Amino acid sequence: MHFDIGTLLVAVTLATAFCAGARFLLWRMHRNIPGLGRWALAGVSAVMTFAMILAYGKSQLYPFLSLGQGFAVIGLVLSWDGFRRFLGKSSVKPVFLAVLAAVGLAWIVIAQIQYSIAINAISNAFLVALLSLLIARDVLLSANSKSPALRATGCIYAVNAVIFLIRAIAAQDTPTLIDPLNPNGVAAFMLFWLLCSMIAITLGMVLMTAERLQTDLDHQANHDPLTGALNRRSCGLLFEKAVAHSRRHQLPLSVLMIDLDEFKKVNDCLGHDFGDKVLCRFVAIAQQVLREDDIFCRFGGEEFVAVLPNTSTEAALTVANRLRNAFAINSAALETRKVHEPFTITVSIGAAELQQDEYFENLLRRADNALYQAKNNGRNCCELAG
Ligand code: GH3
Ligand code: MG
Ligand code: MG
Repeated sequence: MHFDIGTLLVAVTLATAFCAGARFLLWRMHRNIPGLGRWALAGVSAVMTFAMILAYGKSQLYPFLSLGQGFAVIGLVLSWDGFRRFLGKSSVKPVFLAVLAAVGLAWIVIAQIQYSIAINAISNAFLVALLSLLIARDVLLSANSKSPALRATGCIYAVNAVIFLIRAIAAQDTPTLIDPLNPNGVAAFMLFWLLCSMIAITLGMVLMTAERLQTDLDHQANHDPLTGALNRRSCGLLFEKAVAHSRRHQLPLSVLMIDLDEFKKVNDCLGHDFGDKVLCRFVAIAQQVLREDDIFCRFGGEEFVAVLPNTSTEAALTVANRLRNAFAINSAALETRKVHEPFTITVSIGAAELQQDEYFENLLRRADNALYQAKNNGRNCCELAG
């Protein structure tokens, strides 16, 4: 099969331009997601790469080739920085960029002085392989590397690294192979690979962004925006799972209904913002006191529910008292300048153990009654459901 290199090159340039456009749209639509702007700029850099190679094809002037290769490296650095930002990592270090720029420039100057396309292409292939490898490493070893879009994109960069490494090594013996316009199979293969990988990586970025949005939406649907605790909706869903597990293994399960004492007064005296701070503090403390298996959620206002799997009534009461004591914080610990007299903010808790065939609503009602009892008993105490 014979491929016309010129036609292929135009096709790659056009496809890259469309990919760059798609990346810009992605960035404009989701500016709050880090990294997307870098990916868009990397797309522009890729377009410039192919434009320079086209210009080289027309003029046969080496500087165009060097410029194109420079744009390829800049594009990869931007992509890498974009991936790092997207994954919540620090930006690429300026020291690394400085060394890379120095090495890249030195190679370009040597290539120009010696008028050598081989030095040009081999050095460039090494840099492309190195940067692709660094991107693949960051993407494939990231905390959320289980995401299929992330894994697929990381694999494409890994394959790119291998291809360019082979190219850099092979080109040392047969320099004619690396002329981007040489009408042999290698040039056509490289252009096809660049065409496919550019489209696949851009699709990968779109899918990764969609996945990120879905994760954010799921989080918003299941969590309380103020405290970050699970919300009432997710509590019900997780409770069903915990109950099914407890019944299957014939294990006890208890529930704590928790309410901050005299919270209206806290708001009235110290302000709503201070009240919010107290709620966040309570959630942080509860998450420290409770076990990982426990389900803790903000049920509404200053009311919280904790579902304690594998916990009998007596153990639940112990947990409740531990939580109550851990939270009995004083005003000094909350850094407010509005109070002149020290005071303590406390919680009351009602505990109930799940009975056979009991529904969540009923269990909660019994825990709520126990909580009511605790309030009647003077607050800052824990009561068991009868
Ligand atoms: P009790 O000891 O009987 O529970 O008294 P209380 O004042 O805590 O109970 P009440 O139900 O009268 O008041 C609850 C208060 O919780 C009133 C409401 O403004 C406050 N609250 C509910 N949600 C929030 C919130 O998100 N932030 C803040 N700062 N306050 C909240
Ligand atoms: Mg209250
Ligand atoms: Mg209340």
